[in-house]
Amino acid sequence: MRRSNRTSAGQATGWISSATTLGAMRFERNAPAKRVVILGAGFAGISLARRLEQRRDLDVTVIDRNDYTLFTPMLPEVASGSIEPRHIAQPLRVALRRARFIIGAVTDVDLAQRAVSLEGTLDGTPRRVAFDSLVIALGAATSTHGIPGADDHSFALKTVKDATALRSHIIRMLETAVSTDDCEDRQRALTFVVVGGGFTGVEAAGELRGYLRSVRRFYPGIRSREIRLVLVGGAPRLLEQLPKRFGSRAQRIFARRKIEVVLNDDVAAVDAGGLTLKSGQRYESRTVVWSAGVRPAPLIEKLAIDQSAHHAVVVNPDFSVPGHAGVWAIGDCAQIPKRRGGFYPQTAQDAVREGPLLAHNIVAALRGRPTRTFHYRSPGMMASLGQREGLADLGPGVLLDGMPAWLLWRAYYLTHLPGAARKLHVALDWTIGFFFQGDIASIT
Ligand SMILES: Cc1cc2nc3c(=O)[nH]c(=O)nc-3n(C[C@H](O)[C@H](O)[C@H](O)COP(=O)(O)OP(=O)(O)OC[C@H]3O[C@@H](n4cnc5c(N)ncnc54)[C@H](O)[C@@H]3O)c2cc1C
Repeated sequence: MRRSNRTSAGQATGWISSATTLGAMRFERNAPAKRVVILGAGFAGISLARRLEQRRDLDVTVIDRNDYTLFTPMLPEVASGSIEPRHIAQPLRVALRRARFIIGAVTDVDLAQRAVSLEGTLDGTPRRVAFDSLVIALGAATSTHGIPGADDHSFALKTVKDATALRSHIIRMLETAVSTDDCEDRQRALTFVVVGGGFTGVEAAGELRGYLRSVRRFYPGIRSREIRLVLVGGAPRLLEQLPKRFGSRAQRIFARRKIEVVLNDDVAAVDAGGLTLKSGQRYESRTVVWSAGVRPAPLIEKLAIDQSAHHAVVVNPDFSVPGHAGVWAIGDCAQIPKRRGGFYPQTAQDAVREGPLLAHNIVAALRGRPTRTFHYRSPGMMASLGQREGLADLGPGVLLDGMPAWLLWRAYYLTHLPGAARKLHVALDWTIGFFFQGDIASIT
């Protein structure tokens, strides 16, 4: 029998829910600590580990290929140079208190022998880690949907490396434009295309426009009208996840800022010189930013567990993996059913609320007690459009835009950025950005 864990919109203003208490459940005295292994130290994995490590009777291990956890909502600002990369990466040894951390890339999971295989990222040595309970929280990777040339000729925006590589490339393009004598080369260097009309694409385009505007004065030969920024979306409107007027508002703001928005058209192919849409429209560009989709972490495809058509781990409403006792999945890599049909979206907002409930369920399952099902209703969504503008959906009929929405976005995400030092660093980055032009040193 499962009980429901109701998290109302009113309660859900913080990212870390406190709906579950683990302290009340204790295992038998002197029993060996149960080994809980968490794969992935992103929003979902960390929120779970932080809750589980409060228990002395569990031996918690977190495995990640990076030694930091990344605050992705601020990644577009890293790509535009408004925020320093280190300021949105929290070291795992700081984020975790008691849990053991292993740095390594998970390569396989032996569900029969209950062990995880990994390659140490430091020396490449293979290693096996045994578990009693396993949590798959490996997140998602960029998906280019098999579109010819897209993997090789576009820039993803999912990791710190992606963001810094994109920033350096943009600076190289500006340098190319002022140094080439070839008009076509110059125009190709000054045309930037962002693919994806969802949150990431819209935020990336807004940030990019702001950055290009702020640094153009360092390149006296480049006129403002020579810089072309195109945002391509396959859906009929921008920000399809939000009420219709959101998309139209974003489109109006972008039109004012000379961002060309192309909708209802999919990418057919990308090559070194640009991209072609299914309609036949061609954009000559050396910069294609890919924000048009993610797929669950590739490792999942290898595992002998139920998977959705897109290879997300199919889970029950309490996050358990059907047919595998003690195996669970949360976050972007899991397909988590909603009580009234459909699935939870792949957002950090959802992921951080899944961790605490799963902590409760792991302990409940180890004690043979009933688990609870996940229920969460988002209190709203926000997008930063750069250049001191934003959009915020604050519930039915409440739409905020312009500077108030942008300030709200900044206040909200700054509050949720982990660590006082990082908060201060980002606040300083923003303050400096307020008074000075963007930086054009391409240090990665
Ligand atoms: C640019 C951008 C902006 C975003 N903005 C927002 C926003 O404003 N609001 C919002 O709610 N959501 C936002 N999101 C979505 C949000 O980032 C995800 O929903 C969230 O990160 C999901 O959390 P997770 O723990 O499932 O996955 P992740 O946070 O991606 O964590 C997965 C972890 O698994 C590790 N990993 C993966 N594979 C392996 C392996 N084989 N071996 C070892 N480790 C591995 C990764 O290193 C990573 O640390 C944004 C995403 C992006 C890319």
